[in-house]
Amino acid sequence: MIFRKIAFFAIAVSFTAFLAGCNEDEKIMELQREVSILETRSDSLGVAVRTMSDVKPLTIIYDTVRAGEGPFHVFSRLKAMVEGGDADLGKVYLAMQDSVEFKLRVGEKFYIAVDGDKHVQRFRYAPNVITSHVVVRTDSGFVYKLVEKPVVKKQSAYEGALEEGSTLNGILLKVGIPRRMVGVVSGVLQCKVAFPLARAGDRFRILLEDSYYKDTWVSGKVVYAEFDGRIVGHHEAFRYEDPDPKSSYNAHYTETGDALVFDGLRYPLEHLRITSSYGSRVHPITGQVKVHYGVDYGAPTGTVVHAVAEGEVIVSGYDEFSGNKIAIRHRDGTSSWYMHLSARGVGVGAKVAPGQAIGRVGSTGRSTGPHLHYGFKNAQGAWINPLSKTMIATPKLSGERLARLKTQVAEIRKQTEITFASPAVKANDTTDVMVHTRVLQ
Ligand SMILES: [Zn+2]
Repeated sequence: MIFRKIAFFAIAVSFTAFLAGCNEDEKIMELQREVSILETRSDSLGVAVRTMSDVKPLTIIYDTVRAGEGPFHVFSRLKAMVEGGDADLGKVYLAMQDSVEFKLRVGEKFYIAVDGDKHVQRFRYAPNVITSHVVVRTDSGFVYKLVEKPVVKKQSAYEGALEEGSTLNGILLKVGIPRRMVGVVSGVLQCKVAFPLARAGDRFRILLEDSYYKDTWVSGKVVYAEFDGRIVGHHEAFRYEDPDPKSSYNAHYTETGDALVFDGLRYPLEHLRITSSYGSRVHPITGQVKVHYGVDYGAPTGTVVHAVAEGEVIVSGYDEFSGNKIAIRHRDGTSSWYMHLSARGVGVGAKVAPGQAIGRVGSTGRSTGPHLHYGFKNAQGAWINPLSKTMIATPKLSGERLARLKTQVAEIRKQTEITFASPAVKANDTTDVMVHTRVLQ
């Protein structure tokens, strides 16, 4: 079982630490320091050792998140690695479960520092370069601390105009918007602007805010986006921040509180070939004229069918007409329907993501050959032409939130003007475009 051992990617390192008489903050800083030494050296050596003769040694052990894992999996392996000891990892988890939302990514590491009696003294998990979740053993039990390194925030202001024959993303890149943010910016713009109607010469202004730790980019957001088009008209998007940083209301809105979450529908199949459209037709089996409440897409049996938007599965079953069918209810009360499937991959109650595979094309029920019947019901439950549905509506801000948005809009307008008036610097090494930038306090 050599492979299993190697797969742990764990190393145990002898460390010393200042345990006697130090407070929690010192303990946390010490762990940070130990771990950063470990991280620095482990790239090349795999092991880092520091020795001091007069203090109690701690052993640092880490394990790495693998595909599809939650915190429990990593904790179980760490526990197994602390041979013979009661690692107290359950208590460590309890101390932070209300404060930490684990969104683990493959390759992230959980660190524990264990004393000579195999007791965990400290725990550390850092989801990014500036944030660490630390748990420390104290006389009164395990205590959780969020440790955040200071970041420098920088605003950058971009402006430009659409050009004949170039794509929106191409223009955004050309005016200096970093590649990592182009998709976000174009998503915000597309919520409000119908780009097939945008014309060369239409102008836009964008305000981005980026956070840096030392020289490392940590995160970025679109604070403000403005588009002024000859045909599409004038549009503005403002970034709203709820007091709760995890709130799903944190998104872009118009000045009056309409949400601008880009939630365009995905396609149910990768390749679309319409064999029968929505509306009246002669039924291929009965010969009667009747209304076809959906769109038929021809595709080979077994072709993967995708959810067109986020939602909850409300139907997953079989009947003699529709065959295997799935229906998904979306946030705005509408529902998408997928029929004649050869296989269903989700059950009633399942939450699905946009584009998620939910089943396979087939010819079950009343069907003359393999195809997907794709239907859409409005919030009142009546069939509508699925091709007329392009976006899932998002809620409007109201009450206290709307009042907060108004305050933030005023502040964003002020910031936008200040940043556009700030000194211009070259956008990057590969372009001559100048961008206005300002470091925030
Ligand atoms: Zn059909």
